[in-house]
Amino acid sequence: MKGINSKLIHGDLTKVNPDPHRCLKTPVYEAASFDFDSAEAVEAAFMGRSDAFMYTRVSNPTVRELETRLMLLSGSKSGMCTSSGMAAISTVILSVCGTGNNIITSQFLFGNTFSFFTRTIKQFGIESRMADFQDDADIISKIDTNTRAIFLEVITNPQLIVYDFDKIAKIAKERNILLIVDNSVLTPYIFNSGKTGADIEIFSTTKFISGGATSIGGAIMTFESEKWAFVPRLKDDFANLPREKFYKKLYKEVYKNLGVCLSPNSAWLQLLGLETLGLRIERICDSALQVAAWLEQQAEVSSVNYASLKSSEYHEFAGKYMQNRAGCLIGLELESKEACYKFMNALKMVRRGTNFCDNKSMIIHPASTIFSDFSTDEKVFMQVGEGLLRLSVGLEEVEDIIDDLAQALSQI
Ligand SMILES: *Cc1c(COP(=O)(O)O)cnc(C)c1O
Repeated sequence: MKGINSKLIHGDLTKVNPDPHRCLKTPVYEAASFDFDSAEAVEAAFMGRSDAFMYTRVSNPTVRELETRLMLLSGSKSGMCTSSGMAAISTVILSVCGTGNNIITSQFLFGNTFSFFTRTIKQFGIESRMADFQDDADIISKIDTNTRAIFLEVITNPQLIVYDFDKIAKIAKERNILLIVDNSVLTPYIFNSGKTGADIEIFSTTKFISGGATSIGGAIMTFESEKWAFVPRLKDDFANLPREKFYKKLYKEVYKNLGVCLSPNSAWLQLLGLETLGLRIERICDSALQVAAWLEQQAEVSSVNYASLKSSEYHEFAGKYMQNRAGCLIGLELESKEACYKFMNALKMVRRGTNFCDNKSMIIHPASTIFSDFSTDEKVFMQVGEGLLRLSVGLEEVEDIIDDLAQALSQI
């Protein structure tokens, strides 16, 4: 079994089917607690000497199966699922940083991530330093001995900027700083974080993985790295534990104490989505490129941003890092907020909603929704303009998507 789709459909076939009825579909083990044969076995589980399940806040068989398959997808050394993409980000940051530490990031971030970095972790004395990720010197100038990580989004949402990852990974490597990548928009199916030099990859499984927008979830994938020796909170464990144990323990304290476990039912829904991930992504990327090319021709649309377009300033990186498959998101600009609203309200099939990488095409006006908590200055800083729309292309026939966009554009 070499192909990624085969792996996502079957999981790890070297493992014995753990279900007593040999159920072909991983069952939903919707249970809080698990039984043991002996007191010694309970102790072994609590001490981490066995992999037995004991309590779903710590681990669960349905969630474990999703973790196994996501590790096959990302090629990571270890993987764990969380209750949401935001839970994955908070678990990672609170596991590697302490008071007085800082992380380097850009101002182009998912709205809640920006808020988490600039507001929530600030209360814990962790600083977020915003650097221009298209300028190596600026990144380097922000790094000091208290820098614990560089954090970036593979395609920024909603600006849809693509960075030259090799350059940023090189800076992180030379200085032994962890590189954390948020791969929610493309997933490891398109973008290989580990090969690109990331130490930690997080993504929201709510989007492309779940597919049908069925449930919220997140994942943390960790790649083998020597940089752990340079993280003060982790260096003793890294020096003293066998590698496998170290990776198992890495986020455990924060994960258990924050209580960010994924529900078994959500894990089951996401396993279902994962089996068709490849099919959906290929089709959506084909359609999105056609839709973006069509939008470029329309007089009402002042600009279109989609990395696979020849006209895109990120076209080279889309080729280098994504085999020219730039995902489901297209950024488009109309003249004003009023024009955006008129256009959105005239749409008949494309839905107005806040998810993306859904089976359904969907559109949102980021400035008045996801970024509504931010001041006008903050929105300017994040390049979330009043005329910007974010379109997520779905699985419908591309002709239907274009027809709907065309009739709605004609009404503004
Ligand atoms: C959606 C998203 C998140 C947050 O994921 P949730 O599952 O909604 O918590 C984080 N980063 C990016 C880039 C996202 O698109």
